[in-house]
Amino acid sequence: GGMVPVLPGLYVGGAESCSSPEALSAAGVVAVLTVDAEEPPAVPGVRAMHVRARDEPGADLLSRLDECAAFLGAARAGGVNPGFQGQLKLYEAMGCAVDTSSVLYKRYRLEMLSERFSEPQDLPREVFAVDPTTICQTSNTEVLYRCRKCRRALFRSSSILSHMEGIGPTAFAHKRITDSARLSGNSQEKCTSYFIEPVQWMEPALLGVMEGQLLCPKCTSKLGSFSWRGDQCSCGRWVTPAFQLHKSRVDEVRTLPAGNFQTAKT
Ligand SMILES: [Zn+2]
Ligand SMILES: [Zn+2]
Repeated sequence: GGMVPVLPGLYVGGAESCSSPEALSAAGVVAVLTVDAEEPPAVPGVRAMHVRARDEPGADLLSRLDECAAFLGAARAGGVNPGFQGQLKLYEAMGCAVDTSSVLYKRYRLEMLSERFSEPQDLPREVFAVDPTTICQTSNTEVLYRCRKCRRALFRSSSILSHMEGIGPTAFAHKRITDSARLSGNSQEKCTSYFIEPVQWMEPALLGVMEGQLLCPKCTSKLGSFSWRGDQCSCGRWVTPAFQLHKSRVDEVRTLPAGNFQTAKT
């Protein structure tokens, strides 16, 4: 089990990754925070903090997260990084595993990217979802979305970065949802766009600019827009960065488990 770099100077790994002093020193590790039922043996020359917790969903890590953040923050050069607590909470929210396919992780990675540059000249390849037109078998439970006009496949349901419906001061005053509307359960209708991760076909449009339109790569009809600075959903929620496609411009296609028969929901 290797160590996964999650930030410069911060690694996450399994229990075995702190049992090799050679590997730790090779990576320049000076401090180790362990979370386990048993405290592992100390590694000479490495500061250690241990949180006793079992690897199970009910384990309480949150109550000690501030302490953990302070320990890790002090261990890294430059003192406590203000973004640290957030990352540890994200890590906890992902079930204490760096799951690169989780919506939380994708959203975090995009937010970090959007803070890093003004006008991106190139983007890490891994931020783009694979173009759904490339031959790549997806699970039958995934929904495909395509251009309403020319039917070109645009993205899969796994690319949707869902958000909580906006409420309170961040919501548009004139679109504020009444309690009765909320209770009637039609909250889905409040968001008129799909906010998704960038897909490979968007790359030419995204480079060198902070915001712009997203056009269908085949028929060039306008599908939506993007902004690295973020944009507000029709429900009022701010999404940063924002890659949005209007629901009215795309069709949802469910692939039935039996065979390749497809049916379009209109
Ligand atoms: Zn929304
Ligand atoms: Zn099209």
